[in-house]
Amino acid sequence: MTTSANRRRIDVPPSVPADARAVLRIDLTALRANWALLNKHSGTAECAGVIKADAYGLGLEPIARALTEEGCRTFFVATLEEGRRARSIQPGAAIYILDGLLPDAEAHYAGFDLRPVLSSEPELRDWAAYCTKLGRHLPAAVQIDTGMNRLGLRATEVDRIAAEPELFRAFHMALVMSHLACADEQGNPMNDAQRLQFDRLRAKLPTAPASLSNSGGTFLGAPFHYDLVRPGIAVYGGRAFEGAPNPMAPVVRLSARILQLRDVAVGEAVGYGATFKATRPSRIATIACGYADGFLRALSGSAAHPGPAGYIGEYPVPVVGRVSMDLITVDVTDVPMPLAERGNWVEVMGGRVTLDDLTDRAGTIGYELLARLSKRVHRIYEGQTPMGGSS
Ligand SMILES: *Cc1c(COP(=O)(O)O)cnc(C)c1O
Repeated sequence: MTTSANRRRIDVPPSVPADARAVLRIDLTALRANWALLNKHSGTAECAGVIKADAYGLGLEPIARALTEEGCRTFFVATLEEGRRARSIQPGAAIYILDGLLPDAEAHYAGFDLRPVLSSEPELRDWAAYCTKLGRHLPAAVQIDTGMNRLGLRATEVDRIAAEPELFRAFHMALVMSHLACADEQGNPMNDAQRLQFDRLRAKLPTAPASLSNSGGTFLGAPFHYDLVRPGIAVYGGRAFEGAPNPMAPVVRLSARILQLRDVAVGEAVGYGATFKATRPSRIATIACGYADGFLRALSGSAAHPGPAGYIGEYPVPVVGRVSMDLITVDVTDVPMPLAERGNWVEVMGGRVTLDDLTDRAGTIGYELLARLSKRVHRIYEGQTPMGGSS
C-alpha cells in the first residue's frame, strides 16, 4: 500500500495545489536568458519583445514584467485590448499595436499612449488628421509591404504619401518597419529581396528608426537588424529557423496527473476509434490533459504512427490511442510501479520532448501550440524576481 506520505511526486514543484490536474511551468529565467541572447545577437540594434496573443499563450503580464526586468523597453501586441493590458503593467514602455489603426478608434490609442502600426494610406491619413486636430505629435509606426502582401503600405501608396510631407509633420513617425515572409529559411532569396525593397521604399519617406526582423530575421545577421528587432517565438524557446539546432532554452513544461491505471491484455484496444491495440500485456495510464488543454489531437498515437513520448522521471511513456478532449492515454508498462501511480505526474512537453518536437509531429508550428495552451491548465511561473511580484 502506498500512502501519500511515501508517494514519490516527481517533476512537479511542491507549490502545485492539490486541485491542479495539469500544470504548465513557465521558466522566466530561461525566458530572460533567451531575450538576453537575442539582444546580444542584435548588436547595437534595440531588442523589443513581441507579446501578442497573451504573450504567445504564456501570460502577457508576467512575461512583460520579466522582459522589462531584463531591459526590454519596446513591446508589440496585436490588439488594443492587449495594448491596454501591457500598458497597465508597463507605464514607461513604447507599445505598438500590430492591428494598426481601427476606424474611428484613435482615442483608444491616444488614451493609453499606444502606438498604431499604420499599415495603409487611410490609416496614415486618419492618424495624421487626428494628431492635427489634437495639436499633438503622437507617435506611430509606419509599416511598408515588401512582398508579404498581408499588411503594409504598397509601393504606390508610399509614392503618394511621400509627395505629401505635411502628413509626416502631423505625427511622430517613431518607427518604419516591414515584416519578413521567409525569415525561418536562412537561404531563401526572398529575405534579401525584402531587405532591398525595404531600403528602396523607406528612402522615400522621412528618416525614422527602422525595423525589419522577427526572431528568424534576428539570426540573419547585421544587415537585417537595422535599429530594432522584434523577436517573439525565440524568446519563448521556439525554433526561429530551420536546418540548425535551436539555440534557445526551453521555457515551457507541460505535465498532467495520472487519473487512473489499468492493465490491458494483448488485443485489447485503447481510446476513441480503437486505434491502438495492445501487442503485449500493457499497463495504461490515463492522464488529465487533452486537446482542450492544448495538447493537439494530431499528436494521437495509432498502430501505424506511435504518439510522442511523455516522461515519468527518466522513463519515456508513449502516447497510445487518440488524444481526447480532456484525456491522454500513455503506455507505462516499462515504468517501475511506485512512479506510475494515481496522482503522479507525466511530463508531456518540456526539455526532453520539446515544443518543436511535438509540433513537427503534429504538422504545425510552435507558435500554434503555444497560442492554444488553455487557460484551464494551472500555471506556475518559475524564476520570478521579487520585483516582478507574484501573479
Ligand atoms: C508576430 C510578429 C513578430 C514576431 O515574430 P516571431 O516569428 O515570433 O519572432 C514580429 N513582427 C511582426 C509584424 C509580427 O506580426
